[in-house]
Amino acid sequence: MHRFFIGEAALKSAQPGTTLSLPANFAHQVRDVLRIAIGEQLVLFDNSGDELLCTVTQSNRGNVEVLFDERRPGKPEPRTNIILCQGLLKSARFELILEKGTEMGVSSFVPTLCRRSTSGLEEAGPKKIERWQRIIQEASEQCGRARVPALQKIRTLSDVLKELPADALALMPWEEEHALSLYATLHAARAAADKGTATLPHTVVIIIGPEGGLTPEEATLAIQHGVKVVTLGTRILRAETAALLTVANVIYELDA
Ligand code: SAH
Repeated sequence: MHRFFIGEAALKSAQPGTTLSLPANFAHQVRDVLRIAIGEQLVLFDNSGDELLCTVTQSNRGNVEVLFDERRPGKPEPRTNIILCQGLLKSARFELILEKGTEMGVSSFVPTLCRRSTSGLEEAGPKKIERWQRIIQEASEQCGRARVPALQKIRTLSDVLKELPADALALMPWEEEHALSLYATLHAARAAADKGTATLPHTVVIIIGPEGGLTPEEATLAIQHGVKVVTLGTRILRAETAALLTVANVIYELDA
């Protein structure tokens, strides 16, 4: 069933049995693009965690009305709050991370300015940010998430490090680290939780470098802030591969 994100808290006071008029951009999509007919159902959501099951009751040019049938709980979010701080990249690669990261369960994206960020920043104007927001929203609609991940404002790596949540497990995959692996780090966290000697982290911050990589100074600064600098293996991965591999492993190891 098609799902539409209708805006933050937009449906809070809506009551079953009432009629809602869809905003113009959705009306166009419902009627002209997806050709959802009168009598067919669709789902609206607003980041409350709930979904509204609705039936199309009217469909004219530019105006689609739906009857609100039922409020029901949306799918639960992952138990781990994953904050992905991604060194700015060329737009297409950055957009891939936004789409796939949303599908996998990232809760927040932080475009991050690093020493070797050579591309991406010039593209990060208001138009681009609106586009990135739309990619995240459409991925959420498509994959059935009840919440749209946040796109935070662009931050420098040093600000990201200064503002790390106190209880977070922070990971920085670094291409020049050869000893501590991501797998060992996650496995240790899992094993400690299973043994009862520590609680499984609720927030995981992942910091991935830009195309040019992370400098030794950046890795040192991260360690000073309590970040675990890890290797993903012997091959140098593209930033988007590194980001998605790390998210997938965090979900696999910590989110059971
Ligand atoms: N240009 C750099 C590679 C940058 S890869 C070079 O040639 O050395 C972009 C980012 O992906 C890195 O900064 C790091 O965060 C991550 N990454 C890629 N491969 C990795 C690996 N094998 N181990 C850990 N991190 C890796």
